[in-house]
Amino acid sequence: MMGLLMPHPLPQLEAPPPPTAPASTRRQQSLRDSHGRAIHDLRLSITDRCNFRCRYCMEPDDRFLPKRSLLSTDEYMRVVDAAISVGIRKVRITGGEPTMCPDLDLIVRELGKRDLDDLAMTTNGWRLVVSTVNRWREDGLTRLTFSLDTLREDRFATITRSSSSVFDVIHSIENALMGGLPQPKVNVVALRHFNEDEFADFADLARDLDIDVRFIEYMPLDSGRAWTRDRVVAEQDILASISARHRLEEVSLSNRHSTSRSYRFADGAPGRIGIIAPVTRPFCGACNRLRITAEGAVRPCLFSNREWDLRPLLRHNATTDDLAQFLVDAVWTKQAGHGIGLEGFQQPERGMSAIGG
Ligand code: SAM
Ligand code: SF4
Repeated sequence: MMGLLMPHPLPQLEAPPPPTAPASTRRQQSLRDSHGRAIHDLRLSITDRCNFRCRYCMEPDDRFLPKRSLLSTDEYMRVVDAAISVGIRKVRITGGEPTMCPDLDLIVRELGKRDLDDLAMTTNGWRLVVSTVNRWREDGLTRLTFSLDTLREDRFATITRSSSSVFDVIHSIENALMGGLPQPKVNVVALRHFNEDEFADFADLARDLDIDVRFIEYMPLDSGRAWTRDRVVAEQDILASISARHRLEEVSLSNRHSTSRSYRFADGAPGRIGIIAPVTRPFCGACNRLRITAEGAVRPCLFSNREWDLRPLLRHNATTDDLAQFLVDAVWTKQAGHGIGLEGFQQPERGMSAIGG
């Protein structure tokens, strides 16, 4: 049935258990992969639905999973509790578009009760109002990241294929600031022949609003499979484009797991620029992330071609320890790197919106 519904069928979820981690890792009960990386950061997708169809992510005719196959709020919390018990310290709520999930408020509230260092969310900025931000902040949300790839309305309509607008998204960002969430971030996917003439304008936006603007290299995770290497704008080209207008100084980051390089403005203006360059400067060696899809598939890597289904455990009353053990075993299989550009690289069957970016 799922195959009939999905133009790009999702991978067959492998039945549990994943290959077991060595006894010593299992005894330590911590998320550690076979390449020595400790995992502390969970990307939790709570829906595969979206009201946009960004060209680098989804196709207009992509279908969504049947609602019954998504996890319930209670099941997400059981997974998160298990993940925390084996070392997860940060959770980012993502999707699809998280604000399309009817239980989002409840999920934020429940996650806010957990012992975490950071609780963040990534959103396309659809009609966010100050009262919602206030509520999420009071419930424990610490950070918001918005996606915005152009500052020109005609281009926005082209790239998102949505009824929203640049104006609406910027209004949402301003509402996040007014709602007291510090330093919202804006993610910009850098696309050759699309927005490369706007990078310096985005730097102006960072300065004007005192926010972090982060440019992300386009990755082969579009469900339309149109990605080509020549559509990627490399880190150096992004920097050169901004530097033609503003002098930048690199900031050394205390977080060694950060996927981005960060820059401030040399003239002391507020705001920051970040560059995430998975294609031209892979950071896999420092990766500390684990992903859970909206229907409970464990993906140790964004580019995993293997994933493991938590649902049978969840729906047969597994304990927190059982779930934690399953996560320990799944993480052990995390691949060394994504392999983009290497011979034999295979784009994952899921697109970004079905994984959780
Ligand atoms: N819908 C929300 C949003 O757009 O912010 C959250 C989910 S979206 C999949 C998470 C992030 O993935 C967004 O910042 C989006 O720009 C990014 N993204 C999606 N497809 C991508 C691709 N092919 N390459 C790089 N980034 C991508
Ligand atoms: Fe939706 Fe986000 Fe993908 Fe755009 S990037 S289609 S907003 S999930």
